[in-house]
Amino acid sequence: MEDIRARILALAEGTLPDHAGWVALIQDASEEDRLFSRNLARERAQARFGRQVFFRGIIEFTNHCKNDCYYCGIRRSNRELSRYRLTEDEVLTCCKEGYKLGYRTFVLQGGEDGWWTDEKITALVRRIRAAYPDCAITLSIGEKSRQAYQAFFDAGADRYLLRHETADCAHYGKLHPPAQALENRMRCLFDLKEIGYQTGAGMMIGAPYQTADTLASDFAFLAKLRPQMVGIGPFLPHRDTPFREFPAGSAEQTLYLLSLVRLMLPDALLPATTALGTLDGRGRQEGVLSGCNVVMPNLSPMAVRKKYLLYDHKAGTEDSGESSLQKLRAQMQEIGYAVAVGRGDFTSGRDA
Ligand code: SF4
Repeated sequence: MEDIRARILALAEGTLPDHAGWVALIQDASEEDRLFSRNLARERAQARFGRQVFFRGIIEFTNHCKNDCYYCGIRRSNRELSRYRLTEDEVLTCCKEGYKLGYRTFVLQGGEDGWWTDEKITALVRRIRAAYPDCAITLSIGEKSRQAYQAFFDAGADRYLLRHETADCAHYGKLHPPAQALENRMRCLFDLKEIGYQTGAGMMIGAPYQTADTLASDFAFLAKLRPQMVGIGPFLPHRDTPFREFPAGSAEQTLYLLSLVRLMLPDALLPATTALGTLDGRGRQEGVLSGCNVVMPNLSPMAVRKKYLLYDHKAGTEDSGESSLQKLRAQMQEIGYAVAVGRGDFTSGRDA
């Protein structure tokens, strides 16, 4: 459709659609339009970053969580799950292995675990910062107070991932119990940005009750927040959650929406997620070919991999840190991309 192509081109030139325009882009694009957008996003990403992808090592250090998000496999109410938390020394061992493999970003990911108090997280960050001054430290540990975010930052954390999940209040209420509020999630994201983190927001594509309308709100929110990172992957159901019967999101739609994010935020760090790789064997490659520039292999100890299943059939639970890296490296080579060395910080096009 001419109209959709014109909207895609306008977005690539920096003109943001209004709400109705986003809805049209999200729901009216033909297969050809989607391909057009993905190819354009790939061209833009290649022009900006070259044919290279940044690698981050994820360390899933606790699967305890006080929250009960309806879509999440490690939610508090899941009694089928065997819970674990790594010790500080075990996290440092993961970092050591990752460093040897060439990682220069460690992503500490976990549920909102009360055992890991703000003080303990701060001490952990400080230890990693001292041991690896040349590495970036990313935290992905949920909603905290502004003071806690500031303390982690002062201890040496550089980046923070916190998906907003949906910018539509009613939709947020369908994905989370009443104790969790979109308002606080938003407060966290703006605090993180103000403090100076490279901040990541994002959402699942095909989440239960999601519509073109709620997605349009997500895009408007991303346009307002202008996060340095955007985590977007397909919704995948987990058997021990209330959403077990909902269908998975579509890889096609995820790739198309990733391309729209790339066109809207040309400098963003945009991961081709594990969920995308789980849904489709070539998902991560297709993600990179649709404008993504980050891949995040797992560095968690093998013994705990299967206990950190946010959704069913998660990819990479059988591979060691070394073999998941080798596999991904080979996948990237297959499509003509190389693994970038270094921290891979966000820079705006103006500094590049
Ligand atoms: S999505 Fe995050 S906050 Fe929600 S239950 Fe899962 S780990 Fe906890």
